[in-house]
Amino acid sequence: MSIARRVRSVELLYTRLDKEIAQFQSTTKLHCIAGCGKCCTKPDVEASPLEFLPWAYHQFLQGRALEALDRLKRSPSSVCILYSPLSLGDMGKGKCSEYAHRGLICRLFGYGAGRDKIGQLRLATCNIIKENQKDSYQDTVNAINNGLSIPIFSDQYKRLAQIDFKLGNTIVPINKALQMALEEVLHYYAYRPFPSKFKRSA
Ligand code: SF4
Repeated sequence: MSIARRVRSVELLYTRLDKEIAQFQSTTKLHCIAGCGKCCTKPDVEASPLEFLPWAYHQFLQGRALEALDRLKRSPSSVCILYSPLSLGDMGKGKCSEYAHRGLICRLFGYGAGRDKIGQLRLATCNIIKENQKDSYQDTVNAINNGLSIPIFSDQYKRLAQIDFKLGNTIVPINKALQMALEEVLHYYAYRPFPSKFKRSA
């Protein structure tokens, strides 16, 4: 499948998922605290290259793919390079510099559930939400146990892998996933013409 088609398929999956998440948020009232980027500062976030293919493609179309690849290769940190802290003194406050192109894991965390050993759905969220939105959190846990619809990590990743089995099933540290996504796009277009409907900007 061409890069453009895979990108469109991943974006379609995100559009559907974002609608499910919006519904979940509106029902549960759970929400991230404005300006909090704590979850993005975790050094052990993992993702698949495929979930960042739209981001990589966008970088390529903007003529920024090589620069981003270089930045990734030189980054000494395992924190996602797309995270933009408000200040270096307080890494926990900040935002995603590529929010529209963030990955599947970024969309699901806080609003998705994994299954525990006995198959029970468990909301994947952070301690900040658990502590600051105690009532909504507890109500949500109870509602999930009573059948509230919630995006499920394994289902979403299965759908992702149907678009590209290899790139969707490879789970690596997030910066490696970003790098692999860029390399996939750059390799693809190494011997192919630039996508005709987009004008080269660099
Ligand atoms: S892509 Fe954006 S939302 Fe996802 S971990 Fe990186 S900074 Fe955070």
